[in-house]
Amino acid sequence: MSREIYFDNSATTPVDPVVVQAMQPWLDEMYGNPSSMHRIGRQAREAVEQARKQVADLINADSGEIVFTGSGTEADNLALVGLFEAAGNKPFHLITSTVEHPAILETCRYLERRGAEVTFLGVDGSGMVDPGELESEMRRHTHLVSIMTANNVVGTIQPIAALARITREHGALFHTDAVQAAGRVPLDVHADPIDLISLSSHKIYGPKGSGALFVQKDIKLKPLIHGGGQESGRRSSTENVMGIVGFGAAAEIAGAKLPDEALRLVHLRNRLIKGVTGCVPNAYLIGHPDCRLPGHACLGFAGQEGEAVKLLLALDEEGISISSGSACSSHYASEPSYVLQAMGFDPFRSRGGLRITLGRFNNEQEVDRFLDVLPEVVAAMRPLITRAV
Ligand code: PLP
Repeated sequence: MSREIYFDNSATTPVDPVVVQAMQPWLDEMYGNPSSMHRIGRQAREAVEQARKQVADLINADSGEIVFTGSGTEADNLALVGLFEAAGNKPFHLITSTVEHPAILETCRYLERRGAEVTFLGVDGSGMVDPGELESEMRRHTHLVSIMTANNVVGTIQPIAALARITREHGALFHTDAVQAAGRVPLDVHADPIDLISLSSHKIYGPKGSGALFVQKDIKLKPLIHGGGQESGRRSSTENVMGIVGFGAAAEIAGAKLPDEALRLVHLRNRLIKGVTGCVPNAYLIGHPDCRLPGHACLGFAGQEGEAVKLLLALDEEGISISSGSACSSHYASEPSYVLQAMGFDPFRSRGGLRITLGRFNNEQEVDRFLDVLPEVVAAMRPLITRAV
């Protein structure tokens, strides 16, 4: 049996061995509490502050604008709920999109129940939000626009610069969930008027249980977690020093590798897409052909969309790990994907996306092995219901 092939880097990434090394002492002899005044505590504080700078550098922010959280989900919640709470009794209109991660969508629904007004922007067939539509939905009391930088299911990258500019022109705040995009595409809070960004360590070869929210100075945000006042009062609780150190190391590596790694992954991804669409007659690409995450391929097989989960499991038998839709929705793996439905797919075709996401530790030989295995696996599925799209 050949080596396992991990093509599910949008679900999570393996922890980089260099990151593991950086974390090791914090599991062991470096056990201080960053709030303690003695030397052992001060060492932990220094490590947390160094990591804050490393994470800030990834998006060209200042260290003081980074709040460490327990995950990307928590960062999304802190951004939306924190701003809503800070607005007090003022009318709160929020604009988001129909293809956001549940960490945003469910938080929006929660805020609706608490009296916020939420507009959900649709997307086109490639999963892209139209900046013109955002402009026409902006109102006098629009407080916040939250649009993800890149979609986790189909990989489409949104026109963030244009969306952020329109938001700023209308005097509202712009938040982006960059959990999938950070470390994979450049992000610069000085180049684009972005006020808040959600980040997650385990998508950039860091440990799970560590995330961050970038918040521009002067933005008022109410905390979700109350207590000892850590993270400048924005997120109480003793810091997860080991997780934060790992996140910092991962961010530094991701930033240094980004330009070359993005090119390498685009090449690998294109080889994979070309290979699949060339050798499987009913295969088609889902999402934007060009504006997509470097390592991200989402593929459908016309007429066999109902077989996506079987296909995934058959590939798993061959030692190849991929995902159908998104790992976050594995409970609903055979349900139609709300992202594909938002892109105009009918309920049958919406069950069909296979997500193949390449990362730092993948190579050409693995792509070629996937291309060898896939045609037989697809052919072994039930007969086609319809022919190619
Ligand atoms: N936002 C997006 C776009 C994601 O893809 C994910 C995870 O898949 C999250 C948020 C949640 O991040 P975390 O797993 O760190 O809670």
